[in-house]
Formats: sequence, structure tokens, C-alpha cells
Amino acid sequence: MKGASTQVVPINRNRLLDRFIKYVKIDTAANPFTDEYPSSHGQFELGKILLEELLQLGVDDAHQDENGLIWGTLLSNVGHDSPTIGLVAHLDTSPEAPSKNISPQVVECYDGNDLCFANGETLTVEECPELRDLQGKTLVCSGGDTLLGGDDKAGVAIIMELVTSLVENPNIKRGPIKILMTCDEEIGRGTDKIDLQKLNANVAYTIDGGGAGVVDTETFSADAVRVHFKGKNIHPAIAKGRMVNAIRAAGDFLAKLPSDECSPESTEGREGFIHAYGISGGVGEATIEILLRSFETVQLTEFAKYLTEISDQVRQQFPGLEVTLEITKQYRNLRDSLVNLPAAVELPCRAFELLARPYERAIIRGGTDGSQLSEKGLPTPNLSSGQHQIHSTKEFACLDEMIEAIEHLQILAQLWANERIDH
Ligand SMILES: [Zn+2]
Repeated sequence: MKGASTQVVPINRNRLLDRFIKYVKIDTAANPFTDEYPSSHGQFELGKILLEELLQLGVDDAHQDENGLIWGTLLSNVGHDSPTIGLVAHLDTSPEAPSKNISPQVVECYDGNDLCFANGETLTVEECPELRDLQGKTLVCSGGDTLLGGDDKAGVAIIMELVTSLVENPNIKRGPIKILMTCDEEIGRGTDKIDLQKLNANVAYTIDGGGAGVVDTETFSADAVRVHFKGKNIHPAIAKGRMVNAIRAAGDFLAKLPSDECSPESTEGREGFIHAYGISGGVGEATIEILLRSFETVQLTEFAKYLTEISDQVRQQFPGLEVTLEITKQYRNLRDSLVNLPAAVELPCRAFELLARPYERAIIRGGTDGSQLSEKGLPTPNLSSGQHQIHSTKEFACLDEMIEAIEHLQILAQLWANERIDH
């Protein structure tokens, strides 16, 4: 069946826009200061709306689980066993910018000049060069005082409108499609409650990338390191030869870290870094929090070894000081698991080729839910969803790019439907 023809059906532009605006108006900001799951009530609320819509579409087994995640299955309409694909977006938005009373503004036929927000702020083309490519398109931006929440309501709206278009057009061939809306991605808990056996997919895509035409196939590999310094506190008046000052030791440790290489400020592209981002303590005890990031997982071990060497030097400089390093694994480069299923990347690329659209494979200097899902055995690249300037009050989304993403997913569904599972 390979090479079978594929088709795209027109997307209902106004319905997509209405949907997106309805979703972004619900405040779903994640709250990092609670252990509750999900961390904010808005995520439940948005989930309920989506559930209602999925039920109306007749999506099989649509439900909201006790953690607020939304699940559903679009059954196959081909006669053979084809791989099950998962489509994943997250309900929460970033807590890094205000998210109450979001009043989205629609800019029809954007003129290519600086983007003006309702509160008088502007986003200049110099600040955001990608605006140049969006002339004539429909943009949706925040009022200027809040974020928009296109990260990842754009992904949510894309999946919902795709499902609607597939239900309305059963002539588009598809294998089983699992829909999964997750919670608390922005605070690193996005995959905590995902049961991969329940999802039971062969491949998945997070619809959470910027702009259009990008397949993110690599993320950082990431570890966190906590360096703990235990000194000896004693009244400074009688401290001679007895005090061991933990914050001085911590300061020396920090001073030994390279700043002109291997730091976030000095690296880009494929270069990894050691990022000290937190320090606390006093004379008796001090702690430094550090992030290790690299596209090569083995480099994390080298970074950790380097930190151990520095800590040994500091220990020698401060007799009586105890230094311990606690390393926590965070996530691993997507690429490491995509090699097991090359089609996970090849088919989205082929879908762009069939649409005769430019595309690129890109790397993310960060992690996605897909990094964790892939590491657990589910290959999950990330796809564009028309988001721009995320996590800021100058955030916007491009409706035309969202439509392009839906068309791309229509083709992708058909390409996967042409594949067979070998039993
Ligand atoms: Zn996101």
C-alpha cells in the first residue's frame, strides 16, 4: 500500500479560530508552588470542555481521568493493522507571565509592520524577525498585559480541529489515533501521570513547537546536580583555626566554573553547558543548584566528573569541609530513542514533501514531554503549532500556521495508515 495517494480536506478556519479563542480565555497557568495534580483548577475546566467536544464527535472512550488528563481514541478506518499514533498537547500554560483575564486580539491580514497590542505595547520586527514571514496572515495576540497561552492551546486546538475534520471526512484513511491532553508540562510534571500501557501507541507527536514546518528530533539530555557544602560554624570572635565557612567554599567553587565556555551565556547550537542557577546557605552549610545540559548524554558524565574535580580542590582548600554531589537524572535526548523507529521522523518529513512545503529538522535546547516519553519507549518528536514569543506578554499565534499544522497531520495520519504492523 506504500505510495497510496493522500489527500487534504479544507479546514474550517472560523471554527478553528473560535475554538482557539475559547480555550485561551480559560486561565490554565500551572502553579509550581503546590503538590496538587493538576496544579490549577483551570486545567480541569478546560479539560471538561474538550471532553464534551470529544463526546459530541463520538470519539471512542473519551474521558477525563482523576488527574485531569484527557484521553480519547479515534478508531481506525482501514482494514489492516496499522500503527497507533498518539497526538499530545498540554492544557497548562506558563506561570512566567500573567494569565488572568486574557483578552485575545485577532489581527486579520497582518501588514508586516510592528505588531501593536491593545495596551499600547508593540512588538517590533527587529525584536521578532519571524514577523517578516507572516505578512498577510491572521495573527492572534494577547492584549499585551498577559500571555496568550498559544503554548500550548494552539496544539490543543489543532488536535481538536484535526479530530473534527477526520470525523467529518471518513474518506481520509487513518489508523487508530490516540488523543492525549496532559497537565502541568510547564512545571516539569507533564508525563508524571501518563500511563503508556493505557496509551498503547507505537509512536506519538507533541504538537507544541514554534512556527511552521519544523520537526524537532533532538532535545538536550539533562541532569541536575546539588552540591552541598558542610562547614563548621562557631562564634567569629573565637573562630581562628576552627571555623570552616561553607559560603566561602561555595563561592570558591562557583569561581572555578568556566564562564567563557560551557555556560549558557557562552554557548549556542549543539554546545552543552553547566548552569549554576541557585545558591543558598550560611557559614555552617551551603548548597549550589546546577543544571547539566548536552545533546550528547556521555558529556553529562564528563561534566559531573569535572564538578567532582572542582569539589575535591575546594575540599583541599578548606580543611574540615565536607562536600557532596547529588546527581539527579532529568531527561534524555529524543534522538536516543528515535533511532529505534526512523519512520517517526521520516513520515512527518514526507508529509511536508507531499504538501510541497519547506521544512526542517531541528534541535531544541531544552526538553519536551517527548524527551521523557521517548526515553520510556514511546518515540515522540515535536511538531510546529504556530506558537510565537511564548511565555511572554507579547505572545502571539498564527492561525494560518495552525491550519498548515492540521493539514500536515491529515497527511501524516494517512501515511501511518499505509504502514503495517508486523506480527
Ligand atoms: Zn508547550
